[in-house]
Amino acid sequence: MSETSQATESRSYPPPEDLAAQANVGPEVYEEAARDRLAFWESAARRLTWEREWDTALDWTNPPFAKWFVGGKLNVAYNCLDRHVEAGHGDQVAYHWEGEPGDTRTLTYADLKDEVCRAANALLELGVQAGDRVAIYLPMIPEAVISMLACARIGAVHMVVFGGFSADALASRITDAGAQVVITADGGYRRGAPSALKPAVDDAVSRTEGVRHVLVVKRTEQDVEWSEGRDLWWHDVVTKQSAEHTCEFFDAEHPLYIMYTSGTTAKPKGILHTSGGYLTQVAYTHWATFDLKPDRDVYWTAADVGWVTGHSYIVYGPLANRATSVMYEGTPETPHRGRWFELIQKYGVTILYTAPTVIRTFMKWGEDIPAGFDLSSLRLLGSVGEPINPEAWSWYHQHVGGGRCPIVDTWWQTETGGHMINPLPGVTSLVPGSAQVPFPGISAKVVDDEGNELSDDSTGLLVLTEPWPSMLRTIWGDDDRYVDTYWSRFGNMYFAGDGAKKDADGNIWLLGRVDDVMNVSGHRISTTEVESSLVGHPTVAEAAVVGASDPTTGQGIVAFVILRGNAEDSGDELVQQLKTHVAKDIGPIAKPRQIMVVQELPKTRSGKIMRRLLRDIAENRELGDVTTLTDSSVMNMIKDKLPAAP
Ligand code: ATP
Ligand code: MG
Repeated sequence: MSETSQATESRSYPPPEDLAAQANVGPEVYEEAARDRLAFWESAARRLTWEREWDTALDWTNPPFAKWFVGGKLNVAYNCLDRHVEAGHGDQVAYHWEGEPGDTRTLTYADLKDEVCRAANALLELGVQAGDRVAIYLPMIPEAVISMLACARIGAVHMVVFGGFSADALASRITDAGAQVVITADGGYRRGAPSALKPAVDDAVSRTEGVRHVLVVKRTEQDVEWSEGRDLWWHDVVTKQSAEHTCEFFDAEHPLYIMYTSGTTAKPKGILHTSGGYLTQVAYTHWATFDLKPDRDVYWTAADVGWVTGHSYIVYGPLANRATSVMYEGTPETPHRGRWFELIQKYGVTILYTAPTVIRTFMKWGEDIPAGFDLSSLRLLGSVGEPINPEAWSWYHQHVGGGRCPIVDTWWQTETGGHMINPLPGVTSLVPGSAQVPFPGISAKVVDDEGNELSDDSTGLLVLTEPWPSMLRTIWGDDDRYVDTYWSRFGNMYFAGDGAKKDADGNIWLLGRVDDVMNVSGHRISTTEVESSLVGHPTVAEAAVVGASDPTTGQGIVAFVILRGNAEDSGDELVQQLKTHVAKDIGPIAKPRQIMVVQELPKTRSGKIMRRLLRDIAENRELGDVTTLTDSSVMNMIKDKLPAAP
């Protein structure tokens, strides 16, 4: 097995010739965008159907408050559904939906349009008007997509809260957004069992003001408490509606949705996205980054709609491009660890988009599992959410992609709305572990603390120097926090909060969030680099690294590792081996002070490690806010394993 990490990675994979020959976009897009960035985005916007064209592509007279496609009018749901049906594609499948228990639903574009119109009519009947906020707290069932599009259709602003979040998290988001209607279900299926949702809604709504109605989808048939007058069944209210609804066209800057960031670092921020620019960029990036061929591909973003990845690349991008998608309700290990691969085989998935955390879990389970399925339909793979360690990249490439599928590693954020830094599969020679180059029309730089652009190969901060169509417009209800969080550090540049390095070939390597960069005896060391090095060792499936305060070095490196399925925990001997491995790979300064073998790591719902909780543990502190953890028992498991602090 090869031992690779970010520090030593130097392989490069040119685009497969047949893919390059037929790719949706070739190298010319970089030139076009460089020649005239705004003209480039305008031509991307023309891929959509506008009721009225814009007068001005970008209004940046009041930075950092951008307006894109000023004066243009469109309906987002019309662009995702009606226009495809009108063009004769009503019978094309929009979603092959698969429930965790194995039940399925197939929704064509015509079906989906009808369902969305019914739901839109129902919301109107409940008094929802353009601009009102609607909270959506659903499992991964088609009604989640239907509800989002129904809101978009009538100009209501949706605010999806991940179905696994607590009543607390839901209540604070309902209050912050001022939602008047909540759409939920009795429950959903997770890990083979029904998991209730309605009780959390009852609890949350009782602690908030302003929610007039709770619309409930029947999914699991669990008993639910009922508040007469307030609560309504979806099958009573929506099903009886007409499937006719003539949509209204809204301003390009009409709010589309609020999405609270996962809260890996601090109090969740209500990121506001609007209509025209957002749909332009998610549709264009989805088409270009994934080389989507609507007549041939079966596309699968294996993520949750409660995460921005689900908004942009399960719902809006794919539907705007008339993709046929797979949507799956449950977890990868239910009822067996091959479930995802079984789905790829069953539906003939050609493009798979997922997160490194899942890939590392698959690595831990072993390559025999994917080997048991026919994955030959796959032609392209994607990654999102955190840097993909070269070792995980190689595993994904070989054991899922059969060595033939390019992997597009996409760097972006809830705030950016769509892809920002990533290779293009028909153009870029891939370098495992690097998200590589800014997307055409995007201006990204690596700068020092003063905002000066750095020479290649030095480590600094990632900034975006020009506004982009799908950028957040503000933090809901808090313009000051928007300016403060993203624009105050350098004044005229968007500060993403991530550390990065540019190599001599111009590839950008993301180094994790700046708050996670460690300072060991005056050296800045990125958690990502040390984690990648650990995962590059044949025994390690997953690693989380934090800097814990240290009396002599300022911070000491503490690592938590999960071993691969076939690796043996030889105790001290293994720990020594791993320490030596990192020291050799990156340098003695990066050698962890302490390494602990654990079974699980604390993660957010989007699969990101909550390093601040591990830092709490490493520094022997009370744990901070755990409301966005997938599984809070994980922290107890880790604490139990913990030796006394050094
Ligand atoms: P919060 O902002 O609330 O702390 P979050 O940043 O985890 O949460 P997201 O917007 O889902 O919420 O994630 C964006 C972040 O994820 C980026 O800033 C970056 O740190 C990381 N990220 C996403 N994709 C990649 C990628 N391909 N490579 C490296 N890092 C990535
Ligand atoms: Mg963030």
